[in-house]
Amino acid sequence: MIVMKFGGTSVADSEAIARTISIIGGRLDRKPIVVVSALSKVTDLLYKIADSASEGDRKAADEYIETLQSRHITLAEELLEGNPMLEEARTKVADICSELKNFVGAICALGELTDRSKARIISRGEWLSSTVICYAMNSRGIITNFIDARKMIITSDNHMKGEPDKAEIMKRVPEAVSAAFSGADAVITQGFISSTVKGEPTVLGRGGSDYSASLIGMAVDAESIEIWTDVDGVRTADPRIVPCTKNISRISFEEAAEMAHFGAKVLHPMTIEPAVMKNIPVYVLNSMNPGGEGTAILQSDKIEDGVKSVSYKENILLMNIFSTRMINVSGFLQRVFAAFSEHKVSVDLISTSEANISLTMDGNQDIDAVVGELSKFADVDVDRDKAQISVIGKNIVNLRGLLKQTMSSLKDCNVYMISQGASFVNISFVVDRSSMKDAVREVHRYLFEDKDYESGDQRIR
Ligand code: ADP
Ligand code: ASP
Ligand code: MG
Repeated sequence: MIVMKFGGTSVADSEAIARTISIIGGRLDRKPIVVVSALSKVTDLLYKIADSASEGDRKAADEYIETLQSRHITLAEELLEGNPMLEEARTKVADICSELKNFVGAICALGELTDRSKARIISRGEWLSSTVICYAMNSRGIITNFIDARKMIITSDNHMKGEPDKAEIMKRVPEAVSAAFSGADAVITQGFISSTVKGEPTVLGRGGSDYSASLIGMAVDAESIEIWTDVDGVRTADPRIVPCTKNISRISFEEAAEMAHFGAKVLHPMTIEPAVMKNIPVYVLNSMNPGGEGTAILQSDKIEDGVKSVSYKENILLMNIFSTRMINVSGFLQRVFAAFSEHKVSVDLISTSEANISLTMDGNQDIDAVVGELSKFADVDVDRDKAQISVIGKNIVNLRGLLKQTMSSLKDCNVYMISQGASFVNISFVVDRSSMKDAVREVHRYLFEDKDYESGDQRIR
């Protein structure tokens, strides 16, 4: 069995879906479990619907739902033109949208949107896309059964970012998949959406369909997990901001996990973890160029040392914590970390001195409670104008000269913090957000574009 996950751009419209279905058609001998995202931009639209509902703006919400409905009806019409299944598909889309309209209407009347209701609203994108694509696959002769991901992907009750319950998932996925494969060539399910054990709606966080795919792959012991997207694979940097990136043909699980965690949007940060548990290779492939080489993400011993990529995180915050009392250093560190752990705020980079700690963390987290706690024994300074750049590659800390060379490519901007991870695969810098893009381009140019520079007797890449 293989898992094939198709992101928003791979299912953006009827043309993209037709291409996607032909890619799936070429893999039927490997029993594909197809995991789909919502159509491109649909999740953003659903967020707008949720926002309008919470503001009680029913008119705006209804208009957005009309747009949602007509986009999916048009899609069904284009994919199923002249097919007897069209009427059924159209009715299903209309039913899903009218149920959403009623639900949103009730929220508008109530004037309050809980995370649970929000998760229910934004889960509709994947539900709609998988419904239409399932019909389209069947209409093209691929016998495909539909699986409700909410029955298999069980999470905690953190509705907008459920933490998967792996034991439950390991039990439910194989049962659901083997039942659905009976008499079928392929099965299809939704990425991103999940539920608690009590059946309340949850989602895995933005970009979570990659994570769904790897959880499913883990649960069925898949032969491979394929992440089909709109780029030729994992690249040396984000092609949206760096013009001359190169494709990376092979990369280790650790490198890919670190890249994703440190900002490379091509994979959800948690994607690699379930794959590593079962040592399942993950391939990143381009649905617009299916014959391309792509990137294989494999066990570390199959991967050579050296710099692989530069990633960045724009939305971070830098927190400086100064001890106000003369407590000993270990007591101070212990209280600081207890506060982060109690309030479930996770930290990316840390550097410490005698009575000061600097930390970076994802800027989307709610840090008020942590700051309140820390302020009882320390002065806390929070800076949201910074960004983080990470150079990633296996054993790069052993590459003499890399830090010096990278720092010299950053000569035009202030560097507020440097952190060399204990994992040996990551060296990160904190710079002003305003100079981040130029800095990423500069580091990339230096490491990948200029020349194969050498350091001592070891090549940097
Ligand atoms: P999907 O909708 O298929 O999940 P995403 O937009 O989530 O696609 O991820 C693919 C995008 O990730 C690419 O279009 C690219 O702009 C971005 N990206 C960021 N960093 C990298 C990188 N190092 N390699 C490849 N793509 C990257
Ligand atoms: N549709 C969801 C999102 O846009 C999940 C995904 O695409 O992976 O975040
Ligand atoms: Mg994605």
